[in-house]
Amino acid sequence: MNIAVSSTIDRVPAALRGWLAKPRPMLINGKWVMAKSGKTFDVHDPATEMKLASVAEGDAADIDEAVRAARRALEEGPWSRLSPAARGRMIHRIGDLILANLDELAQLESLDNGKPFSVARVADVPLSADMFHYMSGWCTKIEGKHIPLSALAAGGQYLSFTRPEPIGVVGQIIPWNFPLLMAAWKLAPALATGCTVVLKVAEETPLSALRLGEILMEAGLPDGVVNIVTGFGETAGAALAAHPDVDKVAFTGSTEVGRLIVQAASRDLKKVSLELGGKSPNIILGDADVDAAIAGATAGIFFNHGQCCNAGSRLFVQEKIFDKVTAGIAANAARIKIGVGMDPETEMGPLVSEVQHGRVKGILKSGLEEGARALTGGSAIGNRGYFVQPTVLVDTKPNMKVVREEIFGPVLVATPFKDADDKLIAAANDTIYGLAAGVWTKDIAKANQIANRLKAGTVWINCYHVFDSALPFGGYKQSGWGREMGQAVLSNYLETKAITTNIS
Ligand code: NAP
Ligand code: MG
Repeated sequence: MNIAVSSTIDRVPAALRGWLAKPRPMLINGKWVMAKSGKTFDVHDPATEMKLASVAEGDAADIDEAVRAARRALEEGPWSRLSPAARGRMIHRIGDLILANLDELAQLESLDNGKPFSVARVADVPLSADMFHYMSGWCTKIEGKHIPLSALAAGGQYLSFTRPEPIGVVGQIIPWNFPLLMAAWKLAPALATGCTVVLKVAEETPLSALRLGEILMEAGLPDGVVNIVTGFGETAGAALAAHPDVDKVAFTGSTEVGRLIVQAASRDLKKVSLELGGKSPNIILGDADVDAAIAGATAGIFFNHGQCCNAGSRLFVQEKIFDKVTAGIAANAARIKIGVGMDPETEMGPLVSEVQHGRVKGILKSGLEEGARALTGGSAIGNRGYFVQPTVLVDTKPNMKVVREEIFGPVLVATPFKDADDKLIAAANDTIYGLAAGVWTKDIAKANQIANRLKAGTVWINCYHVFDSALPFGGYKQSGWGREMGQAVLSNYLETKAITTNIS
């Protein structure tokens, strides 16, 4: 099977083609600048493997300049003197401007990442706008508390209260799976709390964040409040994680790089929050609404081509409906229309990069060699673009690499279970990760009992992939530290100061 791939870039408007034709600079201190080294690197369309644009290759010198700009903006600039309401209005305007540029941002996301334009237009871009809109409301609601003292009560009178303060200059490092949305998840709460930011975007997908940078300036954000650096993890990313004048690092990506971030940040004991990998169990009980569970499990693994940290990649199905459910998911998988993201018919595009394509093919091969059986899929597609067949594997063993490792591609491993008992819970929790989980049953009491025992930051009952800017998201175990979104994320970006006055 071959995917018909032609140039995708001629499917976008001339203005965007013109934007892409110029080397894209980075945003540092409110100015658009190329790297100090003069170097650039090319970014590609994963459907055609053709060059899309060239972008500045920032490194430690550019990171240093960006951190200095962020420090100045924090300590001296108009930013810290803005009232919470004014800050909130500015953040809200960013959300409005994202929606005003909906099509263009969705086109960039599709070209750069490979995901369908139709999906980016209804998911990635509106959710990014919503994150800014939601967070804008928090600016006026970040409050301290009055705290009554007891220990010294006999000796004097004191007035004590807490004052939440921005943690300071934040280094943020994001991945390629939802390029704009991950930028929004990181930037919106940091801005809501009054921090300033240096954002290092993924080398595979820098374009939508650069366009977002233009929107931030249009919204009136003062110079240096957000700086956006393009470049490589090993140089720009590592320099940001280790920079002595960065107060906090917020990272989303692989567990492996998460460890490197912690090491780099440990020298100065910077605060760190991490949103890492997953291998999430999706459990279907025998009494579930089978059609809904099949549809939910299909979307649970194949949405965004399986490139979701919370993908429902380990399916557990009660024995008596195992064949029916896995056959249903395999049939859905075989029907998914695979193609170029800019094609309106496309439901699944290519994986993001040659590296990711190689990784997914390698792990699939290992699973098949170890005795797993593909009900559908099992290999790459064509010889141009990074396409992989949506795959459902059965006959797996708990120690196989396909079962243990995060694949980050459209590959589901399915296992039958006899009863919804301790053994099932142990199997579901038998992973180093703890990001998300799903439970499908009509017995809501049982679903909640199971949910309580799953070691995961998110549990979906009779649904999957339901995200909201108001809902905290993050991991147990090696899936991370801290939470993204909701009120919970604010603590990632705040320090608490206790102020005590002698009033005796
Ligand atoms: P990654 O290597 O962890 O990259 C994530 C970000 O970290 C990128 O911006 C990357 O820069 C940067 N980075 C890489 N090495 C660094 C270092 N030494 N110091 C500081 N920053 C560094 O992830 P990936 O290569 O894109 O994907 C690999 C795996 O990550 C996937 O298979 C998946 O398991 C996981 N992943 C998880 C999520 C999630 O949402 N939790 C998202 C994407 C990927 P470069 O772009 O230059 O590499
Ligand atoms: Mg990488």
